[in-house]
Amino acid sequence: MSQATKKTAPTFEKMEKIVSLAKRRGFVFQSSEIYGGLNSCYDYGPMGILLKNNVKQAWWKAVVQERDDICGLDSSILMHPQVWIASGHVDSFTDPLVDCKKCKQRFRADHVEGPACPECGGELTEARQFNLMFKTFMGPVEDSTAVVHLRPETAQGIFVNFKNVQTVSRKKVPFGIAQIGKAFRNEITPGKFTFRTREFEMMEIEYFVHPEQAKERHQMWLEERKNWYIRLGIKPENLRLRQHGRDELAHYADDCYDVEYNFPWGWSELEGIANRTDYDLKAHEKVSGKDLKYFDEEKNEHYVPYVIEPSAGVDRSSLAFLADAFEEDETPTAKGGVEVRTVLRFSNALAPFKAAILPLSKKEPLTATAEKLYQDLRKEFFCDYDDRGSIGKRYRRQDEVGTPYCITVDFETANDNAVTVRDRDSLQQERISIDGLKSKLRDMLSK
Ligand SMILES: [Zn+2]
Repeated sequence: MSQATKKTAPTFEKMEKIVSLAKRRGFVFQSSEIYGGLNSCYDYGPMGILLKNNVKQAWWKAVVQERDDICGLDSSILMHPQVWIASGHVDSFTDPLVDCKKCKQRFRADHVEGPACPECGGELTEARQFNLMFKTFMGPVEDSTAVVHLRPETAQGIFVNFKNVQTVSRKKVPFGIAQIGKAFRNEITPGKFTFRTREFEMMEIEYFVHPEQAKERHQMWLEERKNWYIRLGIKPENLRLRQHGRDELAHYADDCYDVEYNFPWGWSELEGIANRTDYDLKAHEKVSGKDLKYFDEEKNEHYVPYVIEPSAGVDRSSLAFLADAFEEDETPTAKGGVEVRTVLRFSNALAPFKAAILPLSKKEPLTATAEKLYQDLRKEFFCDYDDRGSIGKRYRRQDEVGTPYCITVDFETANDNAVTVRDRDSLQQERISIDGLKSKLRDMLSK
């Protein structure tokens, strides 16, 4: 008992601190906050959108820009109703649900222990299957023929475009299609801040391979994707791969691994990497009546490729990068006490601001020099300009949003045409000439 208490307290505390920082510094706000919020919906503030965009850009760079075998796509959220029948989502994309007869709350049957309602102890109904897709109507008439779904995954937009993309790109199998976009799942129990939400953004690759190569390519993608998180700053000890048990596999998957992150509340999925076999392409062939086979000219062979799918959550990976970057330093003060410094140690690629320009005073000639430097640097890097408060307070603000470099324009600058550059992590300060600053920053930020 005491062990559990010891373990829970700091965990709870760390998550509380991250959530509080996220709001205070403009990473994440509750959606529709002035109306009391909407359950499990969140908005990304000025810092959050920069972080999230950087995560998406880093993914796109790694999987599309730097590879020969993957092209991009942006398919629509609303799709032909037959898509979700063919894909199996209408029949099988369900969770077992129980209702409490007394307080009317709903729970996932597999999350409830015992026969009684966990909230009020009331009697529960028999479990029934609840489809997780959001429904809406297309056009002015609200009848069953007008029903469309908000996509629960971006993958189907890729499968139905398999022939289009393969034809125009003339890629040979193995090749992949990558897409970033919003998806929607009417989860019965969302929760844990931005980790599980009903509206979320995905980064998905469908990688088409010859059936005989599927196992080998699946292993390759496991390593590839795990390393991506590490390259972007996640501590290796906080990442692991976990293979799904047979009972956990989605209706389309033959084998699946999760890349899991050790969140303050425990290990949770960042990305699923599944072998979807030829399930989807064959299903769309059958329902659409269109030929979705690939023709291998060298072997003179027609076949439906297997698909390896690395499917990552933008919101949950952004949260993992934020949690992993969060640290509290203790530094001794001049008066013999200890000062706690909150710092986000983002990798340079993910840091919202790359540098902050801080004139030591609001007087000339400092302001003019600082302004000019800011206008020049911001053309290449996202920068902040802050002339409010003591320099110590300004450093704290930048540390709390993870800015790698603070550039101070001081009274010496007019004489030596140089500025002081402070490193967020080492706290080392270096005098650097303004003339060489941009290329020096470019070098430092490329690491
Ligand atoms: Zn109840």
